[in-house]
Amino acid sequence: MKEKYMTENKYNTIIVGGGIAGLTSAAYLSRQGKKILLIEKNKECGGLVNTFTQDGFHFDAGVRALEDAGIIFPMLNDLNIHLEVVKSPVSLGIENEMLHIESVDSLKQYSELLTTLYPESKGEIDSVMKVIRKIMKHMDVLYGIENPVFKDLMRDRTFLFKKLLPWLPKFIFTVGKINRMNMPVEDYLGKIVKNPSLKDIISQHFFKNTPAFFALSYFSLYLDYFYPKGGVGKLADAVKNKIIEYGGKIKTGTKIIKILADTYYVIDQNNITYEYENLIWAADLKTFYKIMETNGLLPKKRIKFENIKKKMLNNRGGDSVFTLFIEVDEPLERFRKIAHGHFFYTPSKQGLGKTHWNELNTMLSNFERIKREKILTWLDKFTRLNTYEISIPGLKDPELAPPGKTGLIISLLAEYDLFNKVQEAGWYDEFKTELENRILNVISDSIYPMLKDKIIKHFSFTPLSIENRIGSSEGAITGWSFEKPVPVIHKIQSSDRSVLTSIPSIFQAGQWAYSPAGVPMSILTGKLAANKILKRN
Ligand SMILES: Cc1cc2nc3c(=O)[nH]c(=O)nc-3n(C[C@H](O)[C@H](O)[C@H](O)COP(=O)(O)OP(=O)(O)OC[C@H]3O[C@@H](n4cnc5c(N)ncnc54)[C@H](O)[C@@H]3O)c2cc1C
Repeated sequence: MKEKYMTENKYNTIIVGGGIAGLTSAAYLSRQGKKILLIEKNKECGGLVNTFTQDGFHFDAGVRALEDAGIIFPMLNDLNIHLEVVKSPVSLGIENEMLHIESVDSLKQYSELLTTLYPESKGEIDSVMKVIRKIMKHMDVLYGIENPVFKDLMRDRTFLFKKLLPWLPKFIFTVGKINRMNMPVEDYLGKIVKNPSLKDIISQHFFKNTPAFFALSYFSLYLDYFYPKGGVGKLADAVKNKIIEYGGKIKTGTKIIKILADTYYVIDQNNITYEYENLIWAADLKTFYKIMETNGLLPKKRIKFENIKKKMLNNRGGDSVFTLFIEVDEPLERFRKIAHGHFFYTPSKQGLGKTHWNELNTMLSNFERIKREKILTWLDKFTRLNTYEISIPGLKDPELAPPGKTGLIISLLAEYDLFNKVQEAGWYDEFKTELENRILNVISDSIYPMLKDKIIKHFSFTPLSIENRIGSSEGAITGWSFEKPVPVIHKIQSSDRSVLTSIPSIFQAGQWAYSPAGVPMSILTGKLAANKILKRN
């Protein structure tokens, strides 16, 4: 019986996780004719790069728009994938002040907008702008050429000699500068900004303790955003179709629940066994360490594995989001007049404040004894003072909403533990409704008054929904939390090693393999893992 399994289900490489990282690995390995199997637990691939349809409205469930970062377009070119895309311009709004970012020059208008709101802090605003301008220059170097990982350097000598070699010294110099800006953005800003509201407004839509360089590079990133026609999920669909074209095999609706390292097997929820020569784990890393069986490995290897496991399991996923999806009986034009289809909006210039986090932490450590009213009062403040990421797919591609109607995606960073505690206390659905209603009130009392009586339907996803759908620890949306030292590679010059595990036949890829991560880094690690296997063979 085992012999039969072995011949039927034996692959050169098994890739677990059909998010954009796993899809990338699978595409590159199948292109080289490797016998591969991509295993995905959900019915569809894409993970956090996903678009779904509801009542004729198309909504992006994960990332709202994409940044090339010198990675996505080179990957598409290299795989000969044609993806129709449009620019995805960003607007910033605070109270009634609005800025539509068009070019690098918009930074000056951003500075003016902040000065209008905080005239007493003009000097501090100038200092922040100086830093952002410096970072933008570093970003120009960092993403200045197509990432060489996606180029054939043996054949493309023009790229090698005319672009890569002249760029390398600038890159090395810039990496040094970037590494010096690794401290949490809150601390970094704390040194130049004393006005707490201003500090909050600049940084409160980043994950807690985001490295300063990564956080303050957002102005460059806003200029880089693009959107695939048909929704962000089209990127994942396109890579998936390539895998099939190259003869790769994809199995969806299949969850891997065990890995047997000594016999090179993975086992799914139906007890079906698959044999691999190489394994790429492109899903949640804490799960990987929890389901790995190392019996049969040499004691030295087991000890090494157990040490890394301890480090991984001691850590947690980064911040998550609460997302409200709204179907509105109003035409796109009404929304177009207010802001672009990707919009960061803060209804109050006051900012969430340090006490906000302290209050939340006190509530969480004492949750059973806290009255519901107190939590709801906290929720009032949380929704009134927060920064919202608003995406309107129809403003990027009008085909994504039914004629005369608009679909909105409104989200804010949300603490997984809060939703978990509320669920344990038995009032999760009620809490969700309370949060939805508060967001609707805040947004319709401020930037989109037409929402008041034009909503056809609304529904929401919480950090727990993300955890359930994607299997992502703590509902994280970009991998590890920055609150503790991250347990994986986090220096760009060492990214090549980020895909290695302590077991030579097993590689890791995706948002948990390198930090800080996002779509481009997930694609890059997917490619790096495939490269390692191709070299190994
Ligand atoms: C709201 C939001 C906004 C974002 N904004 C940005 C942004 O502006 N810029 C940016 O770069 N990134 C952004 N991201 C992050 C980005 O989407 C992710 O970092 C990236 O898509 C992760 O890709 P991945 O392949 O590593 O992982 P995932 O997309 O998590 O894929 C992992 C896959 O593995 C599957 N899986 C899990 N466990 C198993 C198992 N046991 N067996 C089989 N399959 C399994 C899951 O179902 C999933 O499909 C955002 C994400 C969200 C949600």
